[in-house]
Amino acid sequence: MVDIKSMEYYDLIKYVTEIGEKSFRGKQLFQWMHVHKVASIDEMTNLSKDMRQKLSVNCIFTALDQVDCQISKEDGTRKYLFALEDGNVVESVLMRYKHGNSVCVSSQVGCRMGCRFCASTLDGLERNLTPAEIMDQIYAIERDTGEKVSNVVVMGTGEPMDNYDNILTFIKIICDERGANFSQRNITVSTCGIVPKIKELAEEKLQITLALSLHAPNQQKRLELMPIANKYDIHEAIDACKYYFDKTGRRITFEYSLVAGVNDSDEDAMELSNLIKGINCHVNLIPVNPIKERDYVQSSNEAVLAFKNKLEKYGINVTIRREMGRDIDGACGQLRRKHISKEQKGRTS
Ligand code: SAH
Repeated sequence: MVDIKSMEYYDLIKYVTEIGEKSFRGKQLFQWMHVHKVASIDEMTNLSKDMRQKLSVNCIFTALDQVDCQISKEDGTRKYLFALEDGNVVESVLMRYKHGNSVCVSSQVGCRMGCRFCASTLDGLERNLTPAEIMDQIYAIERDTGEKVSNVVVMGTGEPMDNYDNILTFIKIICDERGANFSQRNITVSTCGIVPKIKELAEEKLQITLALSLHAPNQQKRLELMPIANKYDIHEAIDACKYYFDKTGRRITFEYSLVAGVNDSDEDAMELSNLIKGINCHVNLIPVNPIKERDYVQSSNEAVLAFKNKLEKYGINVTIRREMGRDIDGACGQLRRKHISKEQKGRTS
């Protein structure tokens, strides 16, 4: 079966001619999928019945099934749970900002990176998402709300650099001017720090933003929170970010989740400043979202503010990330876990 929605423009044109259609049919097909963003082949009304029939028989046309949607009363943030063809479920979040709508997409079903504070990794990795399944999260949300999405952050469940090829194809397709036409500058990919892949991405010279989940001011503290630090030392990860900046000219984002008594002291702020000094970067501070499986505690508002002030004193650009949808918020991956455990209970009772 051919996954047509995961195909870049010219590959799709080639495929269409291979099944005996004129090449402009490929252009129309690409538009149906990525401009009109239809949910089924049947909706592609300017293609012949015969061609639609051929596509239905030979191709996978992914479409997500909305299982749940929680809407924040505070700020209109929506947390979606979608079912994939094989019954797996993924989470995506719509955040509404003054500058436009932003969607946070998942890149994998589950995750194998094992970050200690993260709910998405507790059951390990199930499988990678295809490019189509990643973009379907955006398209389904646009359909559901009737609103356009302008920004995409690959910060949902999964490690994008552990699904590198599909992420790259996903970005190339959604940024294609003949399709959804997202601006690369409005796309952010967040990684726990898989160094060789950061460098590979740098070579692509895209204009997307790279975010590194740093979360610690030194190797020892990072090791306690993030097993990936065993494989790639904090300094290697930082060097890879510098390399990314050198190749792309794009300012780096460092994500830093504040955990009370673990990484939020004055000394931590000072050490962090020294670590990233001189890099064209921005630090996003996020009070850690506690998950019930671990006993990490969120830093107090005062501690978060003090940390921010300290970084600023050392000349670092920093923002405290507004917590969107606090009233519906579970930490990353919790909606999916809640759903899975409900299903399992249903099956055994
Ligand atoms: N695997 C990628 C992207 C997914 S996680 C990465 O590691 O960057 C998106 C961001 O949320 C990461 O910075 C991650 O470390 C952070 N995160 C995960 N669980 C969290 C929690 N409980 N509280 C605060 N931030 C969390």
